[in-house]
Amino acid sequence: MSSLAFTHVPHPAPVAPDARAAAIADPVFGRIFTDHMVSIRYNETQGWHDAQVMPRGPLSLDPATAVLHYAQEIFEGLKAYRLDDGTMALFRVQANAARFNASARRMAMAELPEELFIAAVREIVRADAAWFPPVEGGALYLRPFMYASEAFLGVKPASEYHFLVIASPVGNYFKGGAPAVSLWVSEDYTRAAPGGTGAAKCGGNYAASLVAQSEAIAKGHDQVVFLDAAEHRWIEELGGMNMFFVMDDGSLVTPPLTGTILPGITRDALLTLARDAGLTVREERYAIDQWQADATSGRLTESFACGTAAVVTPVGKVTRGNTSFTIGAGGPGQVTAMLKDKLVDIQRGRAPDPHGWVTRL
Ligand SMILES: *Cc1c(COP(=O)(O)O)cnc(C)c1O
Repeated sequence: MSSLAFTHVPHPAPVAPDARAAAIADPVFGRIFTDHMVSIRYNETQGWHDAQVMPRGPLSLDPATAVLHYAQEIFEGLKAYRLDDGTMALFRVQANAARFNASARRMAMAELPEELFIAAVREIVRADAAWFPPVEGGALYLRPFMYASEAFLGVKPASEYHFLVIASPVGNYFKGGAPAVSLWVSEDYTRAAPGGTGAAKCGGNYAASLVAQSEAIAKGHDQVVFLDAAEHRWIEELGGMNMFFVMDDGSLVTPPLTGTILPGITRDALLTLARDAGLTVREERYAIDQWQADATSGRLTESFACGTAAVVTPVGKVTRGNTSFTIGAGGPGQVTAMLKDKLVDIQRGRAPDPHGWVTRL
């Protein structure tokens, strides 16, 4: 399909340069937004149409809009970086475009041609290039998403969809490098079940995870770890990050993609980089009891979580009911740091890109 042409709607009053400079000097994740958004509409007769780069602003929705009732909504998250040489670049945008459509299929939504997804992402970065935070680790976090926009209360896949991309300037997720986080193992709530939507990046999965995340915070932890729904035994992932375990022989374990885990692009990149570095990598189930036993015996030396927003986050401590265990020395480990550096160096254009992950804009 030939890509749709984008109409550019001029912004009547973009944020003034000094106010923008103040906003991006120290951005808090997800609170500050750029001047523009991309919007593309879908209906069954016209297909994808009405592609616009326009001033960012509120949406006007009919109260019967399907997404507000039945939650047909999916999203993506990726970053545009400014490389050390000044060029702007995207990391693995094709993978995000493909995953978006995998999510769309699971949620019975219209698929967006991959080249249109990528064109939309390029358009927003071009429109808001002035919004890159001039700080170490700064990036434009891009949020493509799509919702069922048909006004109809009948229960069926909608016949109209609205796709948008918004952008948010972000600094380093954790200022001064990632501290080790403390995790709470949820034994009451699960995130995804076999046959469910765990592998789709849909808002509903997040809605279902929030009560468990709140419980973790209330108990003094940073994040929740979910176990599998059937046996409450196998480690799955956090609310929005995949998990890795580092053994004392230097090998790496991560839960396999069985349909209940979100197939993270950071997860995939780290698996590839670990293999490139000659590490043994196993995608296999890892039980919560085993994690505790291995951390206690020293057979497990490090654990970390990964995702686009925070990249790589070391795990320091895990609490399960009344018992807690510490991972390694409770701080960031060496293998974790090595893999993170390798990934960040490719993302920032400081290291060769043998897998063709970086798209310069
Ligand atoms: C987005 C997401 C991840 C991480 O995926 P990346 O592509 O690495 O950002 C992990 N788990 C869940 C539930 C997610 O929604």
